[in-house]
Amino acid sequence: MMLKRGFKPLVNVSKRYINTSQSYKTASSTPASLSSLSQTSQSENTIIPNKQTLTPQSTYLDSLSNKMLFSYASIGLCTLNKPILNMVIKLFPLIPTKVLDFFIGKIYVGGSTPAQVIKTGEALSSRGINNMMLSLTIEDSEGTKNIDINYIVKETIASIENILKPQILRVIAQQDNINEVPPGYIVIKPSALVANPAQVLLNYQNEDPNWVKQFDQLVSNCEKVTEEVVRLNQELSKQFPSRASPFFVTVIDAEKYDLQHGVYELQRRLFSKFNKPNGFVNVVGTIQMYLKHSFQQIKLEEKLAKAGNYRVGLKLVRGAYIHSESDRSVIHDTKADTDTSYDLGIQYVLQDLEKFKESATLGHLVVASHNAKSSKLACDILSNSKDDTVKSNVVLGQLLGMCDDVTFDLIQNHKVKNIIKYVPWGPPVETKDYLLRRLQENGDAVRSDNGWPLVKNVLSIYKKRIFG
Ligand SMILES: Cc1cc2nc3c(=O)[nH]c(=O)nc-3n(C[C@H](O)[C@H](O)[C@H](O)COP(=O)(O)OP(=O)(O)OC[C@H]3O[C@@H](n4cnc5c(N)ncnc54)[C@H](O)[C@@H]3O)c2cc1C
Repeated sequence: MMLKRGFKPLVNVSKRYINTSQSYKTASSTPASLSSLSQTSQSENTIIPNKQTLTPQSTYLDSLSNKMLFSYASIGLCTLNKPILNMVIKLFPLIPTKVLDFFIGKIYVGGSTPAQVIKTGEALSSRGINNMMLSLTIEDSEGTKNIDINYIVKETIASIENILKPQILRVIAQQDNINEVPPGYIVIKPSALVANPAQVLLNYQNEDPNWVKQFDQLVSNCEKVTEEVVRLNQELSKQFPSRASPFFVTVIDAEKYDLQHGVYELQRRLFSKFNKPNGFVNVVGTIQMYLKHSFQQIKLEEKLAKAGNYRVGLKLVRGAYIHSESDRSVIHDTKADTDTSYDLGIQYVLQDLEKFKESATLGHLVVASHNAKSSKLACDILSNSKDDTVKSNVVLGQLLGMCDDVTFDLIQNHKVKNIIKYVPWGPPVETKDYLLRRLQENGDAVRSDNGWPLVKNVLSIYKKRIFG
């Protein structure tokens, strides 16, 4: 697969995304990031099975190489029980990036170069996961890294053309029904697209021209990415006029609670510019349903959109920051309350979509969850719909490497087509915070795909491979 001119692999990126014109406070980490950039991707370690070779008894583990199985066994050992997991989490900052990358990085991260991510996409397709939510993961919510924002914007735009476009064209060529191909999503992390992001987001209502200018700069960077999304949607719509959902979508990730009101404002500005009535939803925002106000927030966004004559796309998540949230009172008191809130959110959006179809205000939904019950709820509601617009504008998503058993079940047993994986990519040193959140998340819910059951399953596959 050819990469377009000008799109340099990220092995060179780590030098360049840092703005060298000013002093770099954490400069000592840069050489480490360079040296630890892995040349093998998750996909290169995945056996790409012919789908027919997976028997009904197979599990997702059967499709993995020995090396990947080793990584999964490592996760199993880290999550044997809460005390062990807590110890690993405590030690996490001290573990060298190279070691992390060797043991678990390849499970959760799509690669460090575009070429590796393209292969990850191909490997996912072979498992029936036909698209990605692509996130160039360079996080700087504290504003301490002096990141070259323009470079991130440029690389993000290039990744739509160079990774997501070939991915969707390849999948479309293999599918009979164009509306069973999920869109490619390009993730925007607000904290990576402006200097001093926390302060800019906290001051989104501050009328001081300096804050106004900086917030506008953030909006403008997100607009540049979305303009590319719109351009490519128009281009492919001409080629495939029967498509009922966008080919590409910008997704705004949700951040910690105190920054979220600024992020909501950012989302709205983008919705109103790019999600025109009766057109594709080109931008999707995120609501964290563990927040007590989340359900009201959905209703508020709907109301504002109706008044402003634009459409809203939503990615519903439970929320990833429960461990670091300074104000715990904003989060639902119990896991059960979060679960109820999440499922109500799904039902509310799907009701609007089913009723108004292409003119629905809430026009696109990503059910971003590993929870089997919530995912099945969305599938059950959709199974009653005959409408292409409704079906193709609801996509299930999980994080790469998380709950692959749930993904496998949805594809094999519930015949879900519109399913994607969130694929972070970038220099390993930058994806370390992301890896930590994934480990913490492994302790948030009882899962059948970690701990001792995972170790046991891996061992039995090794045994099968060695002894037949
Ligand atoms: C495609 C995708 C995109 C994502 N994007 C974002 C994003 O932009 N921003 C973000 O914050 N997260 C994001 N996430 C991460 C997501 O928030 C977590 O993966 C999710 O919370 C895990 O929950 P679950 O739905 O998989 O279900 P489960 O595993 O059933 O639920 C675990 C979750 O429940 C909640 N919870 C746990 N214990 C309690 C408790 N005692 N009280 C209240 N609530 C509790 C927490 O949110 C916890 O993470 C994304 C996930 C996916 C799959």
